[in-house]
Amino acid sequence: MAIERTFSIIKPDAVANNNIGAIYNRFETAGLKIIASKMVHLSKEQAEGFYAEHSERPFFGALVAFMTSGPIMVQTLEGENAVLAHREILGATNPAEAAEGTIRADFAKSIDENAAHGSDSVASAEREVAYFFSAEELCVRTR
Ligand code: UDP
Repeated sequence: MAIERTFSIIKPDAVANNNIGAIYNRFETAGLKIIASKMVHLSKEQAEGFYAEHSERPFFGALVAFMTSGPIMVQTLEGENAVLAHREILGATNPAEAAEGTIRADFAKSIDENAAHGSDSVASAEREVAYFFSAEELCVRTR
């Protein structure tokens, strides 16, 4: 099994609902180690840049408005097969379709306010981690 890094966002809805600790607990229970973490309030430009691949989609404007509506928590998580492991505990994009017990099933109310983000591949994770964290901010966890 490969040790990977992945990128996570706790979105404005889940921060506003005071679900940061509950969602961090899901990461730790799943064996994912938090190696960097901070709260940020994205500018429009930062949100547009992060979601650039969706810029032609009809929901892009609403997505950017939502992601800039309040502070978010950004994390880098590390663990065995972290990208897939994190996507599994996150659940489907639409919380109505998310498996029971997943973060989106338990903390999200709709597809456009869906509580959390997780990188969908190792390549995306590398780009997304670097979008928010410098190399110096990524801590080494030996235990
Ligand atoms: N999204 C939305 N409406 C849609 C599809 C997606 O608002 O019909 C938003 C939603 O917040 C989602 C994000 O766009 O998390 C990125 O979409 P993607 O398909 O990459 O889903 P994810 O990887 O987040 O599960």
